[in-house]
Order: sequence, then C-alpha cells, then structure tokens
Amino acid sequence: MRGAILYGKDDVRFEERAKPAILKPTDAIIRISATCVCGSDLWSYRGISPVSGPTPMGHEYCGIVEEVGSAVTSVRLGQFVIGSFFASDNTCPNCRAGYQTSCQHRESIVGAQAPLLRVPLADGTLVATPDIPSNDLIPSLLALSDVMGTGWFAADAAGVKPGSTVAVVGDGAVGLLGVLSAGQMGAGRIIAMSRHETRQRLAREFGATDIVTERGDEGPARIKDLTRGIGADAVLECVGTQESMMQAIRSTRAGGFVGYVGVPHGVELNGEELFYSHVHLHGGPAPVRRFLPELIGLVWNRKINPGKVFDLTLPLDQVAEGYRAMDERRAIKTMLLP
Ligand SMILES: [Zn+2]
Repeated sequence: MRGAILYGKDDVRFEERAKPAILKPTDAIIRISATCVCGSDLWSYRGISPVSGPTPMGHEYCGIVEEVGSAVTSVRLGQFVIGSFFASDNTCPNCRAGYQTSCQHRESIVGAQAPLLRVPLADGTLVATPDIPSNDLIPSLLALSDVMGTGWFAADAAGVKPGSTVAVVGDGAVGLLGVLSAGQMGAGRIIAMSRHETRQRLAREFGATDIVTERGDEGPARIKDLTRGIGADAVLECVGTQESMMQAIRSTRAGGFVGYVGVPHGVELNGEELFYSHVHLHGGPAPVRRFLPELIGLVWNRKINPGKVFDLTLPLDQVAEGYRAMDERRAIKTMLLP
C-alpha cells in the first residue's frame, strides 16, 4: 500500500508503507473513501513542529469498515463510518463527561492519508451513518472528522447562544466552520476576521454578518467599535499564535467567553491582563466524538454543508501538491481521494 509520509520540512512523499493490520481485538480497519490535509499538519510540514523521522500523515477520515477485531461489537463490516483524530473508548469518566479527546485510553490516529487505516477502540470511536452516503455528501461527512467538529467545539466552548454576538479569529477551514457553527447555534451577529476575499465570501455564505480585516491591536479595537465599546459575547480563536490569542481575549466583553481550538504555538498569557479582563477561557483538542451523532444528522438531512471548505480535490498520489497549495494559501483545505 502507498500512503503519505512526511520526511521533513516541505518534504511529503507518497510511497510504499506497511498495510495496516488488526493489532488489538478492539481495532477496526477501514477503507478510506476520502481524507484530507489538516491545518495542524502544516505545523510539521513547515518545520515548526519538526518530525523525528519519516512519519505517516493524516488523521481525518471516513470510509467503509473492512475488517474488525474479535472484541468489536457495535461496528459492522460494510458500514460507512466517521471518527475523530483521537480514538476513545467512550466509556471512561472523561468520555462520559463529553471530553473524549481526554479519554483515559485515548490513542492518536495516524496515517489516514492512505487507502486503508487502522482505528483503535473502534466501538467507542467510530459512528456509522444511517446508510451508505451518496458521493455528494462525502466531503461534508469527512469534514466532521476534525474541522467541522473543531469549529463546533470552538462555538460550544465559547458558549454561543441564540442572539449572541460572536467574533471569529482565523479564516482557515476551522474558523470558517466556526462561523457556520455559531450560525447553527443561533448567533445574532457573527463577525469574521479575515483579509482574504475568497475566505470572506465563504464566511458570508456560512452566516457571517460583518467582516473585520484589521488584526494585531487594531482588530480588537474594530470589534469594540462594532459592539458599542463592549466587545463580543463569544470569541472563537482558531489559529493558535500569540497574536491570535491576544486578539481573541481583547475582543471579548467582560464576562464573555473565548473558545480556543488553534493548537497553541508559543502562546504565553499575562496573568494580570487575564485577571482584569474578566474573560472565560475554554478550549483544547475538540472532543469531536461528542458532536458526531448530531453533526452527522445535520449533514445527512442537508441542513449544513461544511464540505464547502474543500476548495481543492486531488488524487491521493498528488498529496505533496495538496500540502503545497495549503502552505501557500492557494487552497483553504485539500481533499484527497484514494
Ligand atoms: Zn474514555
């Protein structure tokens, strides 16, 4: 089998690697229908989080169950399934509290940019769709595996309610789907912070009512201008840099919430500023598994179309171009088809 392997900065290759096999009785093997490149894959592709050696890539997936271990009871051969980027048992106290990405038995998903994938803890991790989906639903179902679930968690963690004023920092796929999520949760006003015309357009299509192009110190000042000097009720931080985090905190009203889902890289918070801000912070790796049943329903009934963030689709063997296009911001998100 051939799959995507990252060798180092700017060097991802599609080459022969071992076919995944059932290693534990709770595993399943799925045949990938579609996979994609994550914004977080770019941290290692750009050499910011260097890899220690050749690393199989990919953690977003959907596909057909091809094989199950002897202890798997609820997942069946031939089902179309979606799972999160962390496998979870869905039974431990952290899972039951809705934080499956902090599962006491969690395992990372690796190597999804390939035709076949091993998924540990299959019963707790995978959620099946009601039937085999038609092809046009596959991009949106794939999006649920990470980006849509992450955008949804950002809005959930930021406590978005009907009528809320929401600001979204970051116009990558997660930020754009944060806009969509806030809209689904009934936000009254959604301010997307973006400088890119194509991304602004998609943000508007997903429900943004205002666009702010300023960033740095001017971003929060502009948000305050738009909210009678108060700030937003809920701010979704979808980047993970010092600048984006401070932009989020400073755009939030006293008593408001920041939901942060951008993986922090070098972010440091000033205790005194945080103290006087009166802002709630909640975030982390999105517990996508919590949201999968509801989100599958919304996609299945064609209420949401998160697959629109895939503006480039390539065959899996052109994975290197998929990374390049996202790195150069020519593509918002690349879908890969085996
Ligand atoms: Zn658990």
